[in-house]
Amino acid sequence: MNIVYGPVPSRRLGMSLGIDPIPKLTCTFDCVYCQLGKKRHKVRGPEEVKEPFPTPQEITAGVEAALAEHSHVDYITFSGSGEPTLNPRLKEAVEEIRRFTKAPIALITNSSLLTRPAVLDAAASFDLVLPSLDAGDQETFLRINRPSPGFSIDEIAKAIEKLARRVPIWLEVMLVKSEKLRTNIDPDSIGHIIEKIRLIRPHEVNLNTCVRPPEEPVDPVPEETLLKIRERMEGELSGIPILVVPQRTASRSRLLREDELKEEILKTLNVRPCTPVDLSDALGINPAEVGKYLARLAEEGKIDRRVQAGQLYYTFKGE
Ligand code: SF4
Repeated sequence: MNIVYGPVPSRRLGMSLGIDPIPKLTCTFDCVYCQLGKKRHKVRGPEEVKEPFPTPQEITAGVEAALAEHSHVDYITFSGSGEPTLNPRLKEAVEEIRRFTKAPIALITNSSLLTRPAVLDAAASFDLVLPSLDAGDQETFLRINRPSPGFSIDEIAKAIEKLARRVPIWLEVMLVKSEKLRTNIDPDSIGHIIEKIRLIRPHEVNLNTCVRPPEEPVDPVPEETLLKIRERMEGELSGIPILVVPQRTASRSRLLREDELKEEILKTLNVRPCTPVDLSDALGINPAEVGKYLARLAEEGKIDRRVQAGQLYYTFKGE
C-alpha cells in the first residue's frame, strides 16, 4: 500500500506531499461526483473498517523518506483515496511529523466525522483544514453525498464551525449540474448552503465543480453559473472571501513557453506577494502549472515562501 505520494503540484497548496492514511477506497460518503468509482467501501466510522490502518510510524517513515528525496514541499497533505479522518491515530501522526519538519500540515476531509470530539481534536492539530460542505439542507446532502446512515448536515456544519474557531479552514463547496437529477445549484439549495457558511464563518470559501465521473448523470457547472453563485454569496456573506476554482481547460500555459511563464510569475511577485491561486487567477495559468513553475523558481532561489494566517504566499527574492 502506498501511504505517501508526490509531491504533486496542487492548486491551493503549492507542491503538496500527499498522505493516504486509510485502507484504499474507504469512505463515509458515496458522492455523486466521486472519481474513485463504484469500488468504494462505505462505512459509518473506523469501527466498521476491517483492514488495518497505516500506523503513525508507517506514515512518518514514508514522509521522512519522501522529504529526504524532495527538498521542496509546501504542504504535507492528508487526503487520499477516501476519508482520511477514519484513521483513529491521525493526531499522533501529525505530532510525529512535526518532530522532524517545519512544513505545514494540511487535512482535506469530507467533514462527516468532525462531529466526533476525538476527530475534531485531531483535525484541530493541523495547520490548515480544507473541509467539504456541498449542501446546507439534509435532503440535498442525502442526494449529493449519499452518506452512510446516521449523518446529519446540521450537526456536521456545527462541528465545522467549532473547528473554524481553532484552526484556519478553507471550506470547499463542490457544485454539480445534471439533466436528470435535482442537484445543489438551484436557488433554494444555494440559499441553504449560504446559511451554513454564515454559521461556520470559514477563512475562505472555495467554489469548485466536478469532472464527470463515468457512472453518474452529473456534469460540471459552467463557469458563468459559478460566477453568478459567487456573486450571490458575496452579496449575502460579507467579509468571507469566495473563490472560484478556475476552469482547467482555459489556460495560457498551453500557449506560452516555460521561460515566458516563469517571467510572468516573477513580474507579478515583484509587485506583491501572491498565493498560488492569486497567480493562477491573475495570469490565467492552469493551477497545476503554476505549482510546477513555483517549485522550479524556488529551487532556482528566485522566490521565497511564507505562511501567513494559514495562507501560503510566494514572494519575489530577485534574479
Ligand atoms: S467524500 Fe470524497 S472519497 Fe468520499 S465518496 Fe465523496 S468524493 Fe469520494
